[in-house]
This record gives sequence, structure tokens and C-alpha cells, in this order.
Amino acid sequence: MKSNSDRRSFLKTLGAGSFALPLISAIPQKPKEKYTGKKLGIALVGLGSYATQRIGVGLEGSEYWNVTGIVTGTPSKIPAWKEKWGIQDKNVFNYENFHKIKDAKDIDVVYICLPNSMHAEYTIKAAKAGKHVISEKPMATNVADAEAMVKACDEAGVKLAIGYRCHFEPFNMQIMKYAKEETFGHINFIESSFGFRIGDPKQWRLNGKLAGGGPLMDVGIYCINAARYVTNQEPVSVSANFGPITDPDRFGEVEESVTWHIEFPDKTLFHGASSYKTNIEKFHASGPKGWMETSPSFSYGPLKGQTSLGPMNLPIVQHQQYQMEGMGPLFLSKDPIPDHCSGLEGVKDMKILMAIYESARNGGKKIWL
Ligand code: NAD
Repeated sequence: MKSNSDRRSFLKTLGAGSFALPLISAIPQKPKEKYTGKKLGIALVGLGSYATQRIGVGLEGSEYWNVTGIVTGTPSKIPAWKEKWGIQDKNVFNYENFHKIKDAKDIDVVYICLPNSMHAEYTIKAAKAGKHVISEKPMATNVADAEAMVKACDEAGVKLAIGYRCHFEPFNMQIMKYAKEETFGHINFIESSFGFRIGDPKQWRLNGKLAGGGPLMDVGIYCINAARYVTNQEPVSVSANFGPITDPDRFGEVEESVTWHIEFPDKTLFHGASSYKTNIEKFHASGPKGWMETSPSFSYGPLKGQTSLGPMNLPIVQHQQYQMEGMGPLFLSKDPIPDHCSGLEGVKDMKILMAIYESARNGGKKIWL
């Protein structure tokens, strides 16, 4: 694993505006001073696989964060977290007494890693308790809930970020930089798909109420978000179709697969798919001067990238560590969370996801946004 100063100087390198392949710029960077101020206290809500195996690991050794609280409905999970982080009994909550988190002065931020439809309820409760919030993606299961989350955080004067880890990850950041600098000309075509073969038929991801949808909500959202950060525009229209159901035991409540066709105001076309029946993960964008492609693109990797100029030689990182080290200063700052990982960004994605479902339910009808 890279040291913090390596990571910081690398992130600065990406922002330095230089372009050369291989992409680790030779421009020497003055390392930022190590943060030695008071750490932010964070409470994880929902100690499932993402909180435990990813975010919890990404927070280890953090300059900015200390896990000072947990919220869980499973008492057997408590001892390991208490031991690892030195969490006090007073900061161990369950879903019934969650509101008492307002009294925990050493919890600044609440990170919600619950099934999708529960994000809104716990974000709003956390905001009312005066805590800043990071909600996992998709931020909600409908636009109204997503907007209510933003409103609740605004009204409470707390910050809301969405766990869009790709915004802190080197390959995706480089893709954004290429697009912004028009290295391959102005991007006019995007193709992106993300899917995997889902296992346990009883898991919440296949429950319509808890998941709010199938692969689109779970992983297709990465393709949508990437198309937006590459084009830096909002779509004008969406048309989409569900794929066939080949496994009715699993896909009674959520789609098995979905394909979409999206147009942006500058006529950029974006074609994509998401599936719970096949392992696929790629992002391709091209313009008049060339192309860029990642595959894998959004999962924990190792990510790989190619462009018409050559390979993307970038570090393979622990995404959640980069995300949390990137988000630390955003929560310490007095400024609002920057747009790219804010609640408003989540709302924009949610509107597109819902338009995809509306179109697919209506046999591919074009939806104007
Ligand atoms: P998980 O099933 O492993 O964990 C969910 C947790 O919620 C469990 O601890 C479970 O006990 C708890 N829970 C509370 N009430 C529940 C209920 N009514 N039904 C089911 N579980 C309940 O799921 P996960 O993979 O950790 O996903 C959690 C969230 O994190 C989801 O929103 C998912 O989209 C998101 N996620 C994000 C990424 C990413 O890369 N950003 C990756 C995986 C998951």
C-alpha cells in the first residue's frame, strides 16, 4: 500500500495539468504537509460487507478519520469493531435508538452503508441529529427521497456527500482529465456496461422494496455517473429496454438486465447496459482525435486502461482509502461539499436512473429530461 504522502503527491500530480504517457508525471510535487489536527469522528451505519471489508479497511491509518461509533442491528458484530477502533459503549447504537447519536459529541459524520431504500430514512435522521452524512450509492430509490435528503441536510446545516469513490480513484480521475482537456478531441460517443452474476436469490439486492431496482441501481449507476463526468453535461433524452427474464426465481421484483441509449445536449451519444446475469465492466469514450477505454473501470480492480495514445500506467489503489482521504478535508472545510460528490450530484443520477426505468417500463419510449 502506498504511503499517505505518495498518495497526496500523486493526487496533486493528476491535477497538475501535465499530459504525457506514461501518466505518472515526472513533475516533482511538493508533498502537502501531513494533517495533524483533530480527526473527524465517523460512525458507520450498517456493518455489512461494504462497511466491514471496504470502508472500514479504507479508514485504517487515516490522517483524517477515526471510527468513533457504529450502528448495527446485529450485536455479535459489536465486539470486533469496539476492539479494533476503541469505540466506547455509549457510541454503539442500533436502529431503534439511533436518534441518541445526537448526544455523541465525538461523532461528526455518519456513513450510511445500508440497503438502498434505507439511505433516505437514516440520512434524514442523522441530519436531524446534527451529523454530517455520507450516503452510499445509489443515494435513494427515487427522486423524491433523494431531494428530501438534500433538503434535510440543508435545513440542519450539515453536509451531505455520496460515496462516489471513483471521483477519488486514479484511472477515473485521469479519464475526467482527458475529457476536460479534450486530449482525444471533444468526446462524442460513450459506451459503458457494468454487470455481474448475482448469487444468493434471497439477498436484498433482488428485493424490489429494499433495492429499488436491479443492476441499474447497483452498478449501472457507475456508467451513468461516468458519462456525466466525462461529458460534464446532463442528458436531454433517455430511451431504455429491459432484457429478457431468464431466471424468474431471482428476477421477480427487479430487472435482470437493462440497456439504454442517452443523448446529451451537444449530441454526444451514450449507449450502455447493466446486468445481473453476466460479468461485464467497461467504459469507452471517443472523440475525433482518439479514444480512451477502461476495463475493469469501476470495481475495486485492479483497473486497467488503454487509450489511442497508449496504456494508462496508473497506480492500483484501495479505492475507499483514497475516497476517505479525499473526503476528509471536504468535511473539515467550512465550504460546501464540492458538486462532484455532493447530494445534488446524487439527485442528478437518480433522475436519470428513474428515466431509464420509466422508458423501459414503457417499451423504450423516449423520455425527455
Ligand atoms: P450488505 O448486505 O453486505 O450489508 C447491508 C447491511 O445492512 C447489513 O449489515 C445488514 O444487517 C444491514 N441491514 C439493516 N437493515 C436491513 C434490512 N432490512 N435488510 C437487509 N439488510 C439490513 O450490503 P452491502 O454490499 O454492504 O451494501 C450496502 C450499501 O452499500 C448499498 O447501498 C450498496 O449499494 C452500497 N455499496 C457500495 C459499494 C461501492 O463501491 N460504493 C460497494 C458495495 C455496496
